[in-house]
Amino acid sequence: MCDSLRVRWTIVPLTAPQPWLTCSGCGGLKPFQASGKTRLNANGRKLDAWLIYKCLACEKTWNRPIFERRNIRDIEPGILAALQSNDPLWLQAEAFDLDGLRRKAQRIDEFPECSIAKDVLSEARDWTHLEIELMVPLPAALRLDRLLASELGVSRARLQALQDRAMLCIASGQADALRRRVRGGTVVVLDLSEEPEREQLQRRAAGIA
Ligand SMILES: [Zn+2]
Repeated sequence: MCDSLRVRWTIVPLTAPQPWLTCSGCGGLKPFQASGKTRLNANGRKLDAWLIYKCLACEKTWNRPIFERRNIRDIEPGILAALQSNDPLWLQAEAFDLDGLRRKAQRIDEFPECSIAKDVLSEARDWTHLEIELMVPLPAALRLDRLLASELGVSRARLQALQDRAMLCIASGQADALRRRVRGGTVVVLDLSEEPEREQLQRRAAGIA
């Protein structure tokens, strides 16, 4: 839109999901935390790779298989390099692999705390619409309305009221997108032409509050 202030928010969860597993150290189901380390085991041309987790109660480790007895030739060179160098970005992406975790654990705790980086993409003079584009590189357990409410300093009830009046639109989202977790590629457009506190919202949206 040519009458918009366009911003991009990049949302990164601070804590990786924690699977609950039966701990052989302290007994019973306990939450396990990704340690950010891997274990590799070579056997001839075969390689095993695990992500190491630790029981939060007793620090007993659990090795989560990334792959087992895989022929080294069949492993993508990028993945092999990431494993050998303990590449933190790659490890982080693996630690947030919810589908992979669900195959191993019945219960997984997720944490809504996120870091939010804000960038201004473009700013029309005398803009009336605020356009917020979301980047969510890792799965974040944060509802869209909670994110908007806390970052813009408006209540969730007011956001809902704005949506009911079509003053808040969510492009490419479901009707109940406000109550769902944030997703990358979502664009939220707020019509602030009648908003008396537009300047304050502008500072908050652009991260200069
Ligand atoms: Zn334990």
